[in-house]
Amino acid sequence: MTEKLYERDSHIRTFQAEVLSCEKRAGFYETVLDRTAFFPEGGGQGCDFGTLADAAVLDVQLQDGVILHKTDRAVPLGTACCTVDFARRLRHMQNHSGEHILSGLIHRHYGLDNVGFHLGEEATADFNGILTRSQLDAIETLANEAVFADLPVTAWTPPPAELAALDYRSKAGIEGEVRLVKIGEVDLCACCAPHVKSTGEIGLIKVLDFEKNKGGIRIRIKCGKDALLDYRAKYTGVQKISNLLAVKQNEVFDGVEKLNNQLGEAKWALSQMKKRLIAEKIKTFDSEKPVTALFEEDLDGKELQLYADALHQAYGGIRAVFSGADPAYSFAACGEEAALNTFFVDFKNRLTVRGGGRNGIVQGTVQAERAAILAFFDAWQP
Ligand SMILES: [Zn+2]
Repeated sequence: MTEKLYERDSHIRTFQAEVLSCEKRAGFYETVLDRTAFFPEGGGQGCDFGTLADAAVLDVQLQDGVILHKTDRAVPLGTACCTVDFARRLRHMQNHSGEHILSGLIHRHYGLDNVGFHLGEEATADFNGILTRSQLDAIETLANEAVFADLPVTAWTPPPAELAALDYRSKAGIEGEVRLVKIGEVDLCACCAPHVKSTGEIGLIKVLDFEKNKGGIRIRIKCGKDALLDYRAKYTGVQKISNLLAVKQNEVFDGVEKLNNQLGEAKWALSQMKKRLIAEKIKTFDSEKPVTALFEEDLDGKELQLYADALHQAYGGIRAVFSGADPAYSFAACGEEAALNTFFVDFKNRLTVRGGGRNGIVQGTVQAERAAILAFFDAWQP
């Protein structure tokens, strides 16, 4: 059994321990100490990193009461000085303790249970029921009020009789000793992980967005420094948009919406102009050939189809229109169905073509140089 210093004090940054064993494994060493402040992964919280003597701690896992430290090099037996990467630990504790507060409040106010917690690049928490944005906003406010109140956070393992009399949140199926984490009067929850000493350490709790998940919801949260960095990144983003649009920061949404509407109108005007241009080009189309390929700049799928169809309606035959640049083009081709299908089979066989269609219209993309496409059209015979 390894003595778990992190259970007694979540703020131990350096400690001394006896190295009991250090065994070589594939690509790393497995080191066992008599006591440790390195938290092994558990309760949704990742393990600690740090240094153990001269070795870097890469992973920590609990196995049958023994805590295994994965180190990058061998460590001599005897006393070793160890240092926990406290920035990483604090980030874990801020997010995890923040999640406890949110989960406790959601349980109390809406009767939902936390059924999952994950802390990786970002923290997520799952609940077995649906909440609205305004309900989550209300919970977020209460959670931050609990932070501002700097409530004490305590952890202990009560004897069975005391435990039986307590009303606490817990995952189903916990056996043996139960360690409880109490956050003021806001939450009481079974948990093995280290937490902040008082809620003020969390700094800020922000509920980002949420999505439906297995009949409930999954919320994304950022607490502590994660929330600060997120705020900083978003502030910088809003500042840039504000400068770009020459509007006040609290008016950027209106500014972007206005710009978006203008863009929509400009796109519509452009499509109308393209339609008129295509109509003019149809009039001056001049080819004796029954199968032709035209190349035009900046036409989308709809415009290509419109153009090819107008040519076919006016002049018959198989009329294809391409847009793009060497060696990648989008195209649409129109013709009598049977002839077009024969043509399209040959076209696909000869060049790298993706696409299809029916009722006298085929559409897709072709990976080929313009010269190769034109050569194919010139040589093609039904
Ligand atoms: Zn927990």
